[in-house]
Amino acid sequence: MEKTCAVIGSGIAGLAAAIRIAAKGYKVVVFEANSYPGGKIRQQFAKGYRFDMGPSVLMLPNLIDELFSLHNKNPRDYFSYSPIETSFKYFFEDGLVINAYADVEKFGREIESKTTDTKADFDNYRQDIEEKYRITSGVFIENSLHVFKNYLSWKMVSGFLNIHKIDSFKTMNEGNRRFFKDPHMLQIFNNYATYVGSNPYVAPATLNVIQHLEINLGAYMPDKGIYSMVEALVRLAKDVGVSFRLNTRVTEIVTKENRVVGIATIVESCIPFDRVVSNMDIYFTYKKLLPKVKLPKRIINQPKSSSIMAFYWGVNKEHPQLGIHSMLFSAKERDEYDAVFENQTIYRDPTLYIFITSKHVKSDAPPGCENWFVLTTAPNDQGQDWNSLLQETRKNTIAKINRVLHTDIEQHIEFEDMLTPAMIRDNYSSAFGAVYGNSSNSKFAAFFRHANFSKKIKGLFFVGGSVHPGPGLPMCLNSAKIMDKVFK
Ligand SMILES: Cc1cc2nc3c(=O)[nH]c(=O)nc-3n(C[C@H](O)[C@H](O)[C@H](O)COP(=O)(O)OP(=O)(O)OC[C@H]3O[C@@H](n4cnc5c(N)ncnc54)[C@H](O)[C@@H]3O)c2cc1C
Repeated sequence: MEKTCAVIGSGIAGLAAAIRIAAKGYKVVVFEANSYPGGKIRQQFAKGYRFDMGPSVLMLPNLIDELFSLHNKNPRDYFSYSPIETSFKYFFEDGLVINAYADVEKFGREIESKTTDTKADFDNYRQDIEEKYRITSGVFIENSLHVFKNYLSWKMVSGFLNIHKIDSFKTMNEGNRRFFKDPHMLQIFNNYATYVGSNPYVAPATLNVIQHLEINLGAYMPDKGIYSMVEALVRLAKDVGVSFRLNTRVTEIVTKENRVVGIATIVESCIPFDRVVSNMDIYFTYKKLLPKVKLPKRIINQPKSSSIMAFYWGVNKEHPQLGIHSMLFSAKERDEYDAVFENQTIYRDPTLYIFITSKHVKSDAPPGCENWFVLTTAPNDQGQDWNSLLQETRKNTIAKINRVLHTDIEQHIEFEDMLTPAMIRDNYSSAFGAVYGNSSNSKFAAFFRHANFSKKIKGLFFVGGSVHPGPGLPMCLNSAKIMDKVFK
């Protein structure tokens, strides 16, 4: 008889898991609480604009392509993406603008001509982050840390022998200071900590591997927008027999004698399944779906990552000085991190990330207009008054954009939507509205992420940004890949 598997949640990792398990011959059903698949990858149409509402920087797209190859399908029959020539435009309050070109030679020359650091400093840095990536990918990015035999593999042994090179006892800021002295360069590279919701003055320099993905391996943009990735994966999943039940919240993972036997939903008390994969945030998976199972307290009680506050604006004017990805940095870098991570608030001069897909996907905005997604780092939800922080941050955001870009943005906004940490908590079932699960503000964070399988309940597996190896699209896709290796 055909074996069956339920996947709880259709985030990027849930979709990847479903596609991988279907390749093993299982009949897979994805249960999704929301009315659409994709989780934090979401889109919205309004007044002639289309907005990608979640992740915006695509790295390691080969991890997506691989899912198609697993089923002998050509990924290009489903979706396409292009490298971005200028991956970021960085704006500073002192008027300096630095372009991060995908062509690293050109980026190096840009650094040398505009800062007190040199192309050679940049080249040395690139080598260092590449080596860190090589070491860590063998140890944990592509492997389970929770399977004993993995520790005997050559990749893992060689990784551990070189562990001193990954700088886990330095902070990201200290790691960056080894190569750069210009405060602009430090601010650019420290900011990568926010890609995993962490503080560069605390998080280990090992995390500087994030920059390797974007700078050495490249940033990409799906040609029909970020959500086209989800559409392509759903189409592939359906083509290989996966079925979807949207608007269906799972209420319990049903177990018997320490083995999974099925799942319950709001209307059904037990739908039998041989295996269950949870893509729900691990904190809520335990708290809400496994009420009788003992909590892995050390993992569940780790501090959570930061969150995000965002504005989605239909802007009836073009801004040629901006790129697909632009960053307007705070004048007081350290004060901003202190505000978010220590004072649990949003800084009055916030660093703003502006994402404009219509610069690549022309149909995403009416002619002469742009679809802006303006994002800033926010603390996770500790019961703050989000309405008043939203109003205050909106005011500060508009003032900063006007000051740095010499414009009057408010009069050009013809559509507006917003995202707060409380919405992230409620819309995606993310504990404390944290976007990236447990924070990485500890040298041992990698060891305090939950395994991709349950040691207590047979047939139960976990994928997504809140479990090993961590958050962000590439890591979520790797979580499904690692789960695939231990799935039995
Ligand atoms: C605004 C924003 C910007 C971001 N920018 C980037 C970026 O540029 N680059 C990057 O790499 N990452 C970025 N991220 C992070 C990235 O989006 C996440 O790490 C990733 O998408 C998480 O995917 P996931 O598979 O863990 O699942 P999620 O996207 O968290 O989805 C989980 C799904 O499970 C469903 N679910 C939960 N509980 C149940 C239940 N009981 N029953 C049924 N369904 C359930 C939820 O409804 C949801 O659809 C960003 C996130 C946000 C919010």
